[in-house]
Amino acid sequence: MLNFDQFTCTKCGQNVVCIPRDYAKFERRSFVCDLCLSVIFDKTYPRNLKGTTTIFSAAGNSLGDNIIMEVLERMYKQDNPDETVIFLNDEENHAEAPTKYQATKFFINEFCRNDIPICFQGMIRYFATNDICKYAEVGIYPKLRFEPQKSVILGQPEKYIVFHFRNIEKHPTRPKPDRNVPRETAQGLVDFANSLGYAPVIVGNDDWMPIVGAFDCRNKLSLPEIAWLIQNARLYVGRDSGMVHVAAAVETEIVAWGFSGERWYPKMPKGDFTALQKDESDLENIKQAIKWRIG
Ligand SMILES: [Zn+2]
Repeated sequence: MLNFDQFTCTKCGQNVVCIPRDYAKFERRSFVCDLCLSVIFDKTYPRNLKGTTTIFSAAGNSLGDNIIMEVLERMYKQDNPDETVIFLNDEENHAEAPTKYQATKFFINEFCRNDIPICFQGMIRYFATNDICKYAEVGIYPKLRFEPQKSVILGQPEKYIVFHFRNIEKHPTRPKPDRNVPRETAQGLVDFANSLGYAPVIVGNDDWMPIVGAFDCRNKLSLPEIAWLIQNARLYVGRDSGMVHVAAAVETEIVAWGFSGERWYPKMPKGDFTALQKDESDLENIKQAIKWRIG
């Protein structure tokens, strides 16, 4: 049996239930709930401190985290041109980083899994997805940090849809097999694309699932090459995963499913994507969304 603690958010007044392990975390940030933790967008921190260094913790270690963090990096640097800004990577010792870089401010993303100093005066905690969602609301979206690149080994059909069928069983720390795309769904969508006159192109590093009738690029392409394929596709289709954010960044229309809430929706204009919640993510609904998008 799990126990739960409760507190009232000092910013929005909502009652928040949390697991006991997280209570101390909320106490440290004066009982501000996760949803209210948005300092980069709100700009409540001391701004553009000339001649100082600001460091940012690593994001989570997934593709999606890294893609969507771009907008924060860009906007922070734009708003604080007179600071030296350093984004730490996963391997860096976060506990020693403020001393090492003589940092004045240290922004710590709540996704960060690295050890952080227990006490550092310039520490500012924030929840990257809150900020990224708020930027998206005002039309500022993440961009790729690399150039899409045409593959030299593969051609590409004229009219095509890019599919990514996630298989997260391989993920070392977060297996979540319930997030896998069943073979029947994958094959059903590939067949459907063919029936609409669009060649299905499959990308990703998940080659475990036999799928027939598709242009199969799994395990053959680099990320810039995948981005190029998606950029030139009529549509990107896949379950909620990091690749969705690549598709959004290259501004290709999206049909994606398996979401719980809107936090991880593609960061692009609302009219450019269809996102199905978990309980509406069956094959028929996905097909309908594809058909509606393609027109
Ligand atoms: Zn709140």
